Amino acid sequence: MGFEAVKLSSLSSSTKSILSRATAKPSLSNLLPLSSLAPRSSHLNRTHFAFRSIKPPPRPVAPAAPCGFGPLSRSKRSFRGGVVGSVRKSEEEWQAVLSPEQFRILRRKGTEYPGTGEYDKFFEEGVYNCAGCGTPLYRSTTKFNSSCGWPAFYEGLPGAINCTPDPDGMRTEITCAACGGHLGHVFKGEGFPTPTDERHCVNSISLKFVRANSYPSQ
Ligand SMILES: [Zn+2]
Repeated sequence: MGFEAVKLSSLSSSTKSILSRATAKPSLSNLLPLSSLAPRSSHLNRTHFAFRSIKPPPRPVAPAAPCGFGPLSRSKRSFRGGVVGSVRKSEEEWQAVLSPEQFRILRRKGTEYPGTGEYDKFFEEGVYNCAGCGTPLYRSTTKFNSSCGWPAFYEGLPGAINCTPDPDGMRTEITCAACGGHLGHVFKGEGFPTPTDERHCVNSISLKFVRANSYPSQ
């Protein structure tokens, strides 16, 4: 695959040979192949550069991508309190720290019944963190009343939310970029009078609200 070619050729063959042989007992027979690989190394590097000059290397295989933001969101540290994909737990570990309903929605991509969520009609000032890993996801200033039955936000904190098209192409799932927890879906172009005309339709149970005055004053 092209991506593999880039990865492999990022280290010269000589370097890899040296690395792979670092633990081997030095001997003439171990060292000999290094010089015999030198021509292949330069050939590979030429191929590498030619490949990159034709087209940029493809992105790593990752179905989820940052939602609705510019270059800032591509940074792996573009939001406070979390790094993309930094929170990894086994299913058993998630079950141990989440309630059954949180597990059903965050880890099994479930949906809470409309109009029942804790934050559906809740408009206090603060930040909504991921209920799974605690990463800040939304500011209360981006929350609006969509009357859809679930909390609605017009944008997430930069880089905090990943978007993944559903397999049927009908909707776009939103997940916590740090832990992959399912939040809900994002809809665009519905005509809401918000700066983005996006509606992040989020399950209340996927969120944990923290009041603005809960943070230490700066
Ligand atoms: Zn999370």
